Amino acid sequence: MVKKPLNKLLLIFLAVFLLPIFIFTVYQISTLNENESVLTEIYDKQLEAILFSVNQYSQDLVDDWAQELSEAQADSSFTAERVKEFLMENESVQYMLWSDSMVQETYLWFRAEETGKKVGQVLRDTLTGRQQELAKLRSYQIEGYIRKEPLGRLQLDGVLSGRSGLLFLLEEGQKYQVCLMVLNPGLFITQNLAQKIQAVAQESFIISAYDDTNDLQIVLTDSIVDQVPNKRPLWLLPDYSLGIVLKGETIQDLAEDRTINNLLILLGVDLILLVGLFLIYRNMQKEIKLAQIKSDFVSNVSHEIRTPLALISMFAETLEMDRAANEQKKKEYYSIIRHESNRLASIVNKILSFSKMEAGKTNYDLQLENLTEVVEDILNTYEYHLNSLGFNCKYTPNGSLPEVSIDKNAVSEAVINLLDNAIKYGGGSKEIEVRLGRDNSHVYIEVQDYGLGISPEDQKYIFDKFYRVPTGSVHNTKGTGLGLTLVSSIMKAHGGTVEIESQSGEGSTFRLVFPA
Ligand code: ADP
Repeated sequence: MVKKPLNKLLLIFLAVFLLPIFIFTVYQISTLNENESVLTEIYDKQLEAILFSVNQYSQDLVDDWAQELSEAQADSSFTAERVKEFLMENESVQYMLWSDSMVQETYLWFRAEETGKKVGQVLRDTLTGRQQELAKLRSYQIEGYIRKEPLGRLQLDGVLSGRSGLLFLLEEGQKYQVCLMVLNPGLFITQNLAQKIQAVAQESFIISAYDDTNDLQIVLTDSIVDQVPNKRPLWLLPDYSLGIVLKGETIQDLAEDRTINNLLILLGVDLILLVGLFLIYRNMQKEIKLAQIKSDFVSNVSHEIRTPLALISMFAETLEMDRAANEQKKKEYYSIIRHESNRLASIVNKILSFSKMEAGKTNYDLQLENLTEVVEDILNTYEYHLNSLGFNCKYTPNGSLPEVSIDKNAVSEAVINLLDNAIKYGGGSKEIEVRLGRDNSHVYIEVQDYGLGISPEDQKYIFDKFYRVPTGSVHNTKGTGLGLTLVSSIMKAHGGTVEIESQSGEGSTFRLVFPA
């Protein structure tokens, strides 16, 4: 009965909370990849811009060289000194062949330690073979643009293997000269470009140059391991390229980390929601159960009150109508009325105590008392009641009990509740035992019966409010389900506990334990 509406609620919860979250999770996962690729693209562009700036720098550098050499050429009395100085300053420039456009008047410049043999001829041949490029350079120059034509790796018969050529024009008033520059690419990169590269790489990037023909890495900042996704050719050295990666983690790593983090967060949120849902479900299950127990309680109490009320009403009417056969009978009816009134009072008192306890309004007046006296008072008052029901109560006192700090009325109420239960759930057995005792630091009162007993499963709940064992003959006995709740609350207020030992069909022992 409880399950059906709850299952419906669960379905509604699932639809209202989990479905949107699920859709959101799927959406997130799908857009994450999209975001990552946009991010990667933006990043690639940024890396490309960095490489562009290095290329631009190398271009500017060679422009400056061309300017310097043009000026040296114009300064005819000091041309040789100025060019030598230039060569000394720029180790990466190994040879320069200056020539007229027809390659007839040529002059070979080289550093002091280099040998010019053979090289001059080879360079002249190269220049002769590059007439097309020369014509292009000239037409650019006429339009006012000085272009530097990279020739790439020079085929110089082993004389200059691994060297690169660069072709540009030197201006001299209206005339011009051709300059074929032979560069040592490794030195050009490590000496002329390295500083700029360090500056743009800073702490964040690793930039390396590559000799693409020989598949060699020229380490500039740190060496790049694994493959380099962002590689761009060097404008002036077409056989060489620059590669750049992010230091530490690559952008791919970062994107992957971000994806994983986002997914973990989403998973966490989903999990929290699921746990929340489970807690709500469990709470509602409890609430519904409690509502049911409360309604059982109302019917139980009505039932318990109805019987004494009917008896009182019936015997009062008999007495009123003078229908009692004799004085003996009259006395008996009065006794029944008194007994049933007491029963009613006890039920009402129990409910009142409980409602006070629930409202936190119970006051305990703790005094040093002798438990023996408290228990014997109860037994004296109860003796008649027990005997009239045919019960035999065996009492075992203990002579060495210290006084304990208790509220006498509350403890009496607890013991009476235990005695009432021993009577109610006595089954066929008419034996009840009450014992007083002590151990190291505790004093206790035990009430034992040999009645129906309580299964271990039910023992977990009997102190819960309104709980009554739902099966068997126990259930046929009337009750409110409040007695043991009150006992447990009274013991808690005394800093003590209630212990139970019981087996189905063999009886139960309840022990009220007080700190001595
Ligand atoms: P009730 O008014 O139902 O007796 P209690 O709180 O006193 O309420 O007890 C709770 C339940 O514990 C009872 O319904 C009964 O099933 C079980 N119980 C309590 N005392 C005993 C006992 N001495 N023997 C067997 N069952 C007991």
